[in-house]
Amino acid sequence: MEFLSFNPVTEKLTLEHGEIPKLKNNDVLIRVAYSGICGTDLHILDGSFPAKKDGTLILGHEFSGTVEDIGDEVTEFKVGQKVVIDPNSGCNKCTSCHGGCYHFCTKGGINNTIGIFKNGGWATHAVVPETQVHHVPDDMEMHHAALAEPMACIAHGWDIMNPIHVGSQILVIGAGIIGLLWACILHLHGLRKTVTISEINAGRRAAVQKLDLDYSVCNPTELRGNFDVAVDCSGSAPAMESALARLKHGGRLCIFGVANPAATVSINPFQMYLKELTIAGVIIDPFTFPKGLALVQAMAARYFNYEKLGIKVYKLSEYKEALEALRTGKVSKAMFKCS
Ligand SMILES: [Zn+2]
Ligand SMILES: [Zn+2]
Repeated sequence: MEFLSFNPVTEKLTLEHGEIPKLKNNDVLIRVAYSGICGTDLHILDGSFPAKKDGTLILGHEFSGTVEDIGDEVTEFKVGQKVVIDPNSGCNKCTSCHGGCYHFCTKGGINNTIGIFKNGGWATHAVVPETQVHHVPDDMEMHHAALAEPMACIAHGWDIMNPIHVGSQILVIGAGIIGLLWACILHLHGLRKTVTISEINAGRRAAVQKLDLDYSVCNPTELRGNFDVAVDCSGSAPAMESALARLKHGGRLCIFGVANPAATVSINPFQMYLKELTIAGVIIDPFTFPKGLALVQAMAARYFNYEKLGIKVYKLSEYKEALEALRTGKVSKAMFKCS
């Protein structure tokens, strides 16, 4: 198999070849089709996001593919089936897991994610437990299926932030892929001219127009007005702080973007009291993977054109170019076509 190997100590990424790992009884071997590069991956590569610290790691937590082999005890999958993986799982033993919150699990959650703590999908092949594999509907294309993980995370955020009523004034901060997908889900749910997207990068601002959502787009310095809901998809603490000041009575800020762990935001408690403001954090996709897949199915034809979304496809060997394009905002997302 071919794979990108990351050494967390030297922070170096290299293209390598090696043996396909042996399957355990409950494992599924997947021939990876498409595998996304997520903003979180950039943070892992520069050492600012918690990830596996010893040995080497194959990143990639958003990937689709075909079943190539199954362990002896696998019951739900057959060789040749189209699948996608949910990188997250819980330990199923702790109080958080038993309370239905495996995303808070200190052993599971984001502490054992495939592609962050265990080998993932920046490779031609990946071995994952059957419990984290989902069937891809027959009518779904594999490059769309690779968006199921980000959509599952957005589905979790959607659940937390709802109800979001048609006509509400909404601010989406950041027009990277997550901001664009949030804009699309708002549009899917009937929100039209009342959505504003703020984005610092001129190229990304221009890209929003391609989606034909009829939303206004502006540089954060030109942002005007007040909002019922602000969704941060930038991870920028100053952007969150200015969004808080623009919330109307009953306003809610959703922290969806991954901020630097050392960043802080100051709040005005009197304004929070006066306006009954809410700040809600969202992490990963607890039990929302089927919903993410259903959203992809419902949205692919209208919204998920790669060119319009600014997603560019690269070979694994083109990883340097892909990472650079994502870092500089030349693309909203980079996607590896692995086989
Ligand atoms: Zn991600
Ligand atoms: Zn647990």
